[in-house]
Amino acid sequence: MNCVFCKIFSGEIPSNEVARTDDVLVFRDLNPQAPHHLLVIPKRHAANLGDFVAEADPAEVGDLFAAASRAGRAASPTGYRVIVNEGADAGQTVFHLHLHVLAGRTLEWPPG
Ligand code: AMP
Ligand code: ZN
Repeated sequence: MNCVFCKIFSGEIPSNEVARTDDVLVFRDLNPQAPHHLLVIPKRHAANLGDFVAEADPAEVGDLFAAASRAGRAASPTGYRVIVNEGADAGQTVFHLHLHVLAGRTLEWPPG
């Protein structure tokens, strides 16, 4: 499979890593939309959130959100946002599930 985030997880493509466990990687987005813009990905390939949860056990989903929470709190004690884009209407461009963690500036609501 020719998936850029699988290759980032394995280290075949370099990334700016922030944290790693056996199953979850946190790394910096190449095109940051905030002073802190991190991506949290599972090792197991799934194209999007729906496909991931269809196959995941609850602990796998929990580990992903726990990593996002740790990364967000470490980036900013005054708040952060977690975003998942699924599909064309949401602007998904990479088809390996990833949680965006944005922090370091005031974030508007609702998002565009
Ligand atoms: P999405 O629109 O939710 O699919 O977001 C994909 C994100 O991946 C974008 O914010 C890109 O800037 C980011 N991205 C794409 N390729 C890389 C890469 N090689 N390293 C880090 N971030 C990347
Ligand atoms: Zn993948």
